[in-house]
Amino acid sequence: MVKLVLRDISKKFEDTTAVDYVDFSIDEGSFFTFLGPSGCGKTTLLRMIAGFIKPDTGRILLRNKDITHIPSENREIGMVFQNYALFPHLNVYENIAYGLKIKRITKKEIGNKVEKYLNLVRLEGYENRKITELSGGEQQRVALARSLVVEPKVLLLDEPLSNLDAKLRDKMRIEIRDLQKELGITTIFVTHDQTEALTMSDKIAVFNKGKCIQIGTPREIYAAPTNTFVATFVGETNLFEAEIIDDEAKLNNGIMMDIKKSSTGSYLSIRPQDIKISKEFKNMRNTFKGKVEKIQFNGVVVEYIVDVVRTKFKVSALNNIYIDTEINVGDEVSILIHKNTINVLNNA
Ligand code: ATP
Repeated sequence: MVKLVLRDISKKFEDTTAVDYVDFSIDEGSFFTFLGPSGCGKTTLLRMIAGFIKPDTGRILLRNKDITHIPSENREIGMVFQNYALFPHLNVYENIAYGLKIKRITKKEIGNKVEKYLNLVRLEGYENRKITELSGGEQQRVALARSLVVEPKVLLLDEPLSNLDAKLRDKMRIEIRDLQKELGITTIFVTHDQTEALTMSDKIAVFNKGKCIQIGTPREIYAAPTNTFVATFVGETNLFEAEIIDDEAKLNNGIMMDIKKSSTGSYLSIRPQDIKISKEFKNMRNTFKGKVEKIQFNGVVVEYIVDVVRTKFKVSALNNIYIDTEINVGDEVSILIHKNTINVLNNA
């Protein structure tokens, strides 16, 4: 079921086009991520959905109702800001109860709802704590509870994990996702962090320069990027300019590779883990001789930079008992690339 529709939305700030005719829909109950580098317009788009900014063109529909001109407070959309925007002079209870006080409900009902959401974010017993006495992760949970307590139709999260340290960020990723699933609330999450996007989302929209340039599940975005921007922004890749001649690609250094049938584009993207490295050379299709220039070990994987006719290939292999530990810098090796792992792309 389609819940939130963004139809031809654009926004300019003087000469800057922040959002450039964005047009897609977000399924009811899904966790949807806007992913892109700083300045690509994702926050501006989120703020238009929240109703803080008016779009120059287009419409926003929520459950078939046009909300484009409805004031923010009447949209039934909750938002958690990057800096949480909690009220420092109010305690945890008062912060969470804030949005309920302006609704016409009894003190008892307010109390019950605050308790419910405090439990959901696992902060039972924190009612009287001051905001300044909370850790970053706890403030984050108060901010979540405060947005959720009014039971919005959509939850907007603007880079909510960026102020937390790496360990806590990993933990909150799981907590937020679990909470979202439990409540079944449609959630839009803004981030520039590809790992957050890949691990948390049902669907990801990748943005560049105000435009949405690809939408898909995390697996689709990772395995089948449709342009060079997505291929390099989401995950690591080997990107080469190439001339496509029938079912082969010719790299600038002259080497020829078999590719999937009927591929079109002018770049190849090959993930480092899709390349096999070996000291034995078998004369097979898509096997190339090269020399190891660098080896980097990080515990989980070993990365090799292999020079093949002056073109560098990054190859990564899991550090387990199957790895060839005899490979050293300076060694002659061969690399093998299966044609199905080569994505042929256009520039973006
Ligand atoms: P970040 O991750 O850094 O927040 P973003 O992808 O969310 O980036 P936006 O904040 O939406 O990007 O900004 C998109 C573009 O619009 C940027 O070039 C920004 O400088 C510009 N912009 C945003 N808000 C305003 C404003 N109020 N006035 C003028 N320009 C703005």
